[in-house]
Amino acid sequence: MEKSKTWKQEIKFHLGLHLLIAVFITIASYVHFPFGSSKGNFVYLVHFLLLHFSLFGFIYIFSLFNKIFKILFPILFIVVSSFSYWVYTQDLTIGVGMIQAILETNTDIAIDVFSYQFIIFLLVSSFSIFYFFKCNKKLRISSLTSPLFFISIIGVLTFFVVENYKYDAFKNRLPYSIFFNSMKYFKESSIKLREVTAKVSTKEENLHVVLVIGESVRSDHLFLNGYNRNTNPLLAQQKNLISFKEVFTPYTFTAQSVPQILTDKSIDNKQKKQEFTSLYSVLNKASFKTEWIGNQSLERSYKDVIYSNTSKTIIDEFHSFLSFKKEKDLALLNYFSLHNNTLENRISTLHMIGSHWYYNNRVTSNFEYFKPITNSKYFGSLEKETLINSYDNTIVYLDFFLNELIQKLKKSTKKTILIYISDHGETLGEDGKWLHAQEHNASKNPAMLVWFSNNFKKSYPLEIQKLISKKQDSITTDFLFHSILDISKIENYKYLKNQSIFN
Ligand SMILES: [Zn+2]
Repeated sequence: MEKSKTWKQEIKFHLGLHLLIAVFITIASYVHFPFGSSKGNFVYLVHFLLLHFSLFGFIYIFSLFNKIFKILFPILFIVVSSFSYWVYTQDLTIGVGMIQAILETNTDIAIDVFSYQFIIFLLVSSFSIFYFFKCNKKLRISSLTSPLFFISIIGVLTFFVVENYKYDAFKNRLPYSIFFNSMKYFKESSIKLREVTAKVSTKEENLHVVLVIGESVRSDHLFLNGYNRNTNPLLAQQKNLISFKEVFTPYTFTAQSVPQILTDKSIDNKQKKQEFTSLYSVLNKASFKTEWIGNQSLERSYKDVIYSNTSKTIIDEFHSFLSFKKEKDLALLNYFSLHNNTLENRISTLHMIGSHWYYNNRVTSNFEYFKPITNSKYFGSLEKETLINSYDNTIVYLDFFLNELIQKLKKSTKKTILIYISDHGETLGEDGKWLHAQEHNASKNPAMLVWFSNNFKKSYPLEIQKLISKKQDSITTDFLFHSILDISKIENYKYLKNQSIFN
């Protein structure tokens, strides 16, 4: 009798605690989902329950250290719930960018944080947790001999089983996201960059290279490449535009493909722990202005490459691709200017969120050309047709975005060349696979376009001829580093001219 009474006490305590955790912390990670299909909602309910079960495992084990637990847990609870407020209200992403801003005490953000609603939320969560602990002060909450201890071990194992089944299934959700993204922040960039020491130079002047890095755009969904839907109503009208249909990358996710595209790392490179040279480091040495304007939050694998630009702007950095409030790519153009008043050479890189899943979040409603679109994030409940419609709408948005950029570039007095390349493709149901980061050829053929201004055409007639003659060629993403150095007429730095699309 006595035993079952203490188990009941434990169960009561942990159930109560999880109710508070759900209300003040975890539900925030789910509320922004589209509740479109009952099957999808059911899957997310199971996900939520499993997340709590895994949390129960960790918390129960923590509570075995009774005294420390009773002091530390309420403090942790309040800290985590202060993050959760922003996830609830703004769908902010607790990612590396956020952790960085906090640890580097960005004062603008610190001031923005203090609204009275936030203070009220914190007061209510603090009061709830302290009151809960005060009421349950005398209860036995855990014991090594309790059956709950064994259940808690299964809870901990659940975490690893689910993460193994689907990477980041829990790690991107509160409260785990705070812990795992803090760990990521302290890890170094995974690509080692070599310094450029040679006296690199160029005799070229007034050149502006505009490099647009897209996201998850596959070549064969461009109308320009023969797709049967008109996904390029605007670009199809543009002159001086060339589409390269056959580009290959073996890398199917951003963290691997972006650093490869922007350095001299070859796709054939099999050696590990080698150093590579950032495109921007070479151009800096040749007195180029190098600027990065990104709509994707920093990733460890290529943050050093971004930092090798002389200026960098990350817009909307606290909303990752997961967020339903993520800024649309058109906002990038607000930060992009032409610099007509100087003759200096320049490279501007715009990094898009592009066609990253969840597709509907990438476009405004006036870009819903193809209907019906998806109404849930759960793949099991979605029709192939709606997924492809939603994806194709992001391509129409890309068409609009690039067209706006080109219209702006036409006002430039510089010799301007625009190179658009997606970081990789996307798998859209081929062999039952979806999205990217998949070992499938559909993810390995990214879209690529080149546009040049009339000033550029006049100065580089031979290079334009070469460019046109190569448009049917099969090329790899290795081309980018060498082509940009080639068109910039870089001297005293060895690059592979035979890789250049202008040669
Ligand atoms: Zn990507």
